[in-house]
Amino acid sequence: MSSQRVQHIFRIFALLFVFLQAPLYNVAFARQFVITLDAGHGGKDYGALGNKTNEKSITLSVVKQLGRLIEKNLPDVKVVYTRDRDVFVELSERAAIANKAGSNLFVSVHINSVDRRNKNRKKITGCQVYTLGLHKTAENLAVAKRENSVMELEKDHTEKYAGFDPNSLESDIVFELFQNKRLDQSIEFADAIHAQLVDVAGREPKGVRQAGFWVLWATSMPSVLVELDFICNPQAEKFLSSENGQEEMVIALYNAICAYVNTYGSQIVGHNLPVAQALKPSNKKNTKSNGADVPRLNTSAKPSDVDKKPDYKTEKQGSGNRILEICSTDDLPRYYIQILVSSDPIKYGSSELKGFKDVEYYRDGGLYKYAIGVADTLEDAQVLLRKVRKSFPESFIIKMRSGKRVDFIKP
Ligand SMILES: [Zn+2]
Repeated sequence: MSSQRVQHIFRIFALLFVFLQAPLYNVAFARQFVITLDAGHGGKDYGALGNKTNEKSITLSVVKQLGRLIEKNLPDVKVVYTRDRDVFVELSERAAIANKAGSNLFVSVHINSVDRRNKNRKKITGCQVYTLGLHKTAENLAVAKRENSVMELEKDHTEKYAGFDPNSLESDIVFELFQNKRLDQSIEFADAIHAQLVDVAGREPKGVRQAGFWVLWATSMPSVLVELDFICNPQAEKFLSSENGQEEMVIALYNAICAYVNTYGSQIVGHNLPVAQALKPSNKKNTKSNGADVPRLNTSAKPSDVDKKPDYKTEKQGSGNRILEICSTDDLPRYYIQILVSSDPIKYGSSELKGFKDVEYYRDGGLYKYAIGVADTLEDAQVLLRKVRKSFPESFIIKMRSGKRVDFIKP
């Protein structure tokens, strides 16, 4: 056996050790539900920069308010912070803090941004929630790379993170291990955060995704990484740094945590935890409640279901009453029926859509292109086309991959 191969195998065992030691901590602290809140970046690492503020300050402010709210309203939940002031904390240290505290849940809070060369920089908006997994699209990989790049600010990073390469053989093996309950629960929790950020904080939905973030990879409890919105967009920056905006985002995160604790808390700690109520931001207190005040996770969502649907957004479209951009969590092609092209956005429910509700759009050459879908095979799309042509005789089939049109089938 070559020495390289031996090294390879050694690394796999070293990685397994990191995961397997965690349940020991959980046993020692089994009586209390522990959540670790991770404010992204800090100290010399500013994270993404806006015009007036930066990622490290906003994440710290949001995380501290969230921690206080949990301590006030959920006395049976212990809050652990990876940082509670403006200091630099290495990624490995963040994961170690969560593991050593025997955490049952890990929430890493970040703010998104795109490259200065991106023409869409000032307009891009929306929240994203990541769970650990393989990078499914190039875009997800780009976000993961940016968040992981903090490793380069750390001394000896090549030593410490030697095992981490999302594209390597070891990672494939380790990721296989995650096809278990922990991933199911992370996805359910991520769905809840995403839905709350849309409903309570009015963020545009940009989906629940999977990417290989180091900080999620090295924690051994259900873990999510939240990108609240884009700091490069001046309007979103204003919201992110405003008092009201932060209150709304904090309550959104709090409600998702409540749902998690209501669903799994008692089972995790081994005794009954009091049922927690959802909260409303102070500026929305008088609005009518739109459903359960005692939030629970939708535990029927299995990873396989998540994989099957093109994106969270498509699922929620009917209830969201807005037309969403076509986007997918993987790079598999899907077929849609293109019905309309417009230079301006068309409103949900507009007469131009002739009663079709499941409409989505993509942008191409400065135009908004509207389509109905979605089909996995050309045969299914042709069946759909015959129906759609009764209302839109000029419509035709397009093939989309990762939110971009890759082909169209000539009418
Ligand atoms: Zn970040």
